[in-house]
This record gives sequence, structure tokens and C-alpha cells, in this order.
Amino acid sequence: MNSRRVLLKLSGEALAGANKTGFDEATVKEVARQVKISVDAGVEVGIVIGGGNFWRGRTSDAIDRPKADQIGMLATIMNCIYVSEIFRNAGMSTQILTPFECGSMTELFSKDRANKYFGEGKVVFFAGGTGHPYFSTDTGIALRAIEMEADYILLAKSIDGVYDSDPKTNPNAVKYEKISIQEVIEKQLGVIDLTASIMCMENKMPLAVFSLNEKDGIANAMQGKINGTIVTA
Ligand code: UDP
Repeated sequence: MNSRRVLLKLSGEALAGANKTGFDEATVKEVARQVKISVDAGVEVGIVIGGGNFWRGRTSDAIDRPKADQIGMLATIMNCIYVSEIFRNAGMSTQILTPFECGSMTELFSKDRANKYFGEGKVVFFAGGTGHPYFSTDTGIALRAIEMEADYILLAKSIDGVYDSDPKTNPNAVKYEKISIQEVIEKQLGVIDLTASIMCMENKMPLAVFSLNEKDGIANAMQGKINGTIVTA
């Protein structure tokens, strides 16, 4: 697996570590250390971060869903600002792009702009999801990976790959080394949400799923060594 440009998805919960909410500085610093190894090796790295450590639109029924989703999208931007700063402290250059204006906090996304920053060796954060309610950052990363012609989507998860059933409840669950996205959809294995899965299938965007807890898992994955599951498109 040869990676020139990859987009990495981190869930909001992953950033929170054991805290479950907000940020766990040690976790984010460790992500930064590993991403830097890859950036220094010449890999172009884009980052998409979820918002679950702050807010999820669909879990609030007190307010209108589009408004709840706006809060969720803003949560993903807060996450990107934090992680981007930790990356800078670790010696990387970064740029945050969003699908809507956020004043001087971020820049508006365009493919040309993102390509320019990749060309400058910057880590590009694609924050704010798709910019639309009823979507997720899974769809956000599928969209940006396809549009930016990434080689792979990398999904760093709390689990070390794709299993035929939940290993937490089934001790006989079997991990796939390789599986097609079509099979993931048919078997409802829930690697990424359905909208994002269909987009990856239609646009032939492969994914790699691996554990965030694997030693050097991110660095390995960014340099093409996947110890989890490859999802072919
Ligand atoms: N969100 C959205 N549109 C997007 C991306 C995210 O409305 O394109 C909102 C949505 O409310 C979501 C929240 O942002 O619940 C956090 O995103 P994440 O992908 O982490 O959500 P999850 O899939 O965990 O609900």
C-alpha cells in the first residue's frame, strides 16, 4: 500500500481519552508525534475530527435537528483548533479549512487552497464536516478524500480492525484482513456510516481501519503498514 496523500479520521471520543469529554492532552500529543514522523517522511496528511467529545446532533431532541447539527459542526472545529495547535507545538505547520466562513479562525475550503497547503508541507485540517446538517464527519472525510484524490482514508479506532461481529460481546468474532466496502455495507459492519460507505464505493475510495492504541499505529498506517483491516472499494 503506497501512500502519497492520506486523510486520517479521529473520533471526538478518541481525543478525550479516559476523560470521555473535552481533550486528553497526552493522547493528542501522541497523535502529533506519530503524524510528524509521516509528514517528515513526505506523506501529505489531511485530518478530519469528529465532535462526539462535545456534542452529537442526533442525541439532542430538545431542539431542532439542523440547529443541533450546527452545534456538532462547531464542535468539530473546536477539536481541529486544539489538535492543530498541539501539532504546531510538535513542530508541524497546519491549516484549518472549513466549508463555511468562521471569520479569521479558519479559511474557507476549496480544493485549490487545500492543494496549495499540502504542497507547502502543511497538515490540512478539514473541519466543520460537510457544512450541512444530517451528515456526519464520516461523510465529511469521504467527501474530502474523494475530492482531494487521497490514496486512502485512515480510520483510527478504539478497535483494531473490522470484525464479523462485535468482539466485545462475541469472543469468537473474526477479524478481516481485507474486505470489500460492498460486503461491509451488506453485512452492516458499521465501519463508517452508510452514506459515507456508499460514497466510498461509488468513487472507489479505499479505507484502512486500525487501532489508535497500537504502538505507532498511525505512523505505520500512514506509511502503508496496516495491522488492522483494509477495506477495498
Ligand atoms: N455534523 C453535521 N454535518 C456534518 C458533520 C457533522 O451536522 O457534515 C454534526 C452532527 O450533529 C454530528 C456532530 O456534528 O453529530 C459531530 O460529528 P460526528 O461525525 O462526530 O458525529 P457522530 O457520527 O459521532 O454523530
